[in-house]
Amino acid sequence: MLTIVCPHCGARDQTEFRAGGEADRPRPADPFALTDAEWADFLFMRGNVMGLQRELWVHAAGCGKWFSLTRDTRTHRFAP
Ligand SMILES: [Zn+2]
Repeated sequence: MLTIVCPHCGARDQTEFRAGGEADRPRPADPFALTDAEWADFLFMRGNVMGLQRELWVHAAGCGKWFSLTRDTRTHRFAP
């Protein structure tokens, strides 16, 4: 069982959170210029990093706030 530290509520059990995917992904500068294939890449393709990755999380069963954390995808440990 993981413990995730919500910046608003403090340490809570992982069951209170939902993952939102990779953080810091730049949105397309001109969304109307993208082809369907480019949109599909943006929406569905992920880096699938082995190691440290910035991720979005939401405290779904708590305050409802979104925040980003760095997690090691090999160990599932969160960086301080
Ligand atoms: Zn919270």
